[in-house]
Amino acid sequence: MSAMEYEPVIGLETHVQLKTRTKMWCACANEYGSPPNTQVCPVCLGFPGALPVANEEALRLTVLTGLLLHCEIPSFAKFDRKNYFYPDSSKNYQVTQFDRPSTKNGWIEFEFDGEGSADGIAKINITRAHLEEDVGKSTHFDRHSGVDFNRAGVPLLEIVSEPELRSSEMTYAYLKTLTQILARAGVSDCDLEKGMVRCDVNVSVRPKGEPRLGAKIEIKNMNSFSGVRRALEYEIPRQIAALKRGETLRQETRRWDDESGITEPMRSKEDAHDYRYFPEPDLMPFAPTEDWLSSVRARVPELPLDRKRRFMHDYGLPDGDAEFFRHNIELGAFFEEAVKGGGAAKPLANWVINNITGSLAAHSTPADKIPFTPAHLSELTNLTGSGKISSKIAQEVYAVMWETGEAPTSIVNRLGLLQVSDTGAVEEFCRQAIAALPGPADDYRKGKVAALNAIKGQVMKLSKGKVNPQLAGELLEKLLRGS
Ligand SMILES: [Zn+2]
Repeated sequence: MSAMEYEPVIGLETHVQLKTRTKMWCACANEYGSPPNTQVCPVCLGFPGALPVANEEALRLTVLTGLLLHCEIPSFAKFDRKNYFYPDSSKNYQVTQFDRPSTKNGWIEFEFDGEGSADGIAKINITRAHLEEDVGKSTHFDRHSGVDFNRAGVPLLEIVSEPELRSSEMTYAYLKTLTQILARAGVSDCDLEKGMVRCDVNVSVRPKGEPRLGAKIEIKNMNSFSGVRRALEYEIPRQIAALKRGETLRQETRRWDDESGITEPMRSKEDAHDYRYFPEPDLMPFAPTEDWLSSVRARVPELPLDRKRRFMHDYGLPDGDAEFFRHNIELGAFFEEAVKGGGAAKPLANWVINNITGSLAAHSTPADKIPFTPAHLSELTNLTGSGKISSKIAQEVYAVMWETGEAPTSIVNRLGLLQVSDTGAVEEFCRQAIAALPGPADDYRKGKVAALNAIKGQVMKLSKGKVNPQLAGELLEKLLRGS
């Protein structure tokens, strides 16, 4: 028995606050950081007789999330009351979607190397993403407790994954990708510091190869993704050790203590709630029309991983460059415009990733305020590509472009920077260089080939970098051998 190997099975319930102007059922602001109980009204406090009105944008964001996660969007969904008593919910129930959620049966894929992935990609099925309302927040003082209801009634999405995650690292990668996608689409700001993303983790262990699941243990109270990872890094070995000691694990809820880095029992299955769900009588079911759905479909952005693949496939960029553009939307758009302008993709990517990124940082300039156009950058790479200016001169031209926003061709003409490829002119620079450096010239004539570099350097210096270096090399050799 002791040699038996165990594997963890992990499922996640992720709660995400939707980015709406107002709350789910009333006109109170959905804003963070106001003084306690300043964003409340009879509806979100649950006064008798107050009637809810559904926030349409929250419904749109819910369906948008379903589309982002490749979910089915049922033509009929409804709201239910989940009944329980707790000080942070003055209504004594929470409105949620129980048996007819707005989205179900989807999947998400993300980059991950390890158990449960293939070719560096993991795919996890999504059970459902349903809409519900947030509750108030309790604060415990020395001798009393307070409840702030500003958050009560804020629209919340619960995204439930299938129990297919295989490790703490994989769970971490899943959460990172999920929140990246939601933030990209404007579903939520996903600001963890402001409590906009909260997770409950279900984890069990079983002997490898065993199809049945072990006792499901739920962990609560993780405030960060690294908290989730650490909680799993503690909980998985704890369960395995218990099984190895011959103990039987029971279904229970445990609380993560971030400071001491352990999980501790909260409640067992025996005191599990009966929520007595029933259809919310004050709200209509939700039956989206085709027109309404297509208006939401129009808001689906390119998913980050799809974007990375497209930059590799369409522009032939290496993994690192594509990874850069996956995260930098505005610079990616600038790059794509520049490619349309006729420049070669790889040199353009280098300019954007190295020079433009560096200049933006140095000048604290936002990415939408680049002082020249994508067409200008394209023109600059064409000037170097065709040998009209050297790469050294290109850096100078770039610096002027950043200062003045001028087109590179105009800068090159104005400052006389065109590469000198006229044989007569280059030969004159070469003669001057040989005359200035008689020592290295002699060395070269005596067979020290490397001495040519010093003379070539002198040519570039005399010509201020404008001479075509290849032509200079050829002419120097001819002159030195001939004399
Ligand atoms: Zn309200």
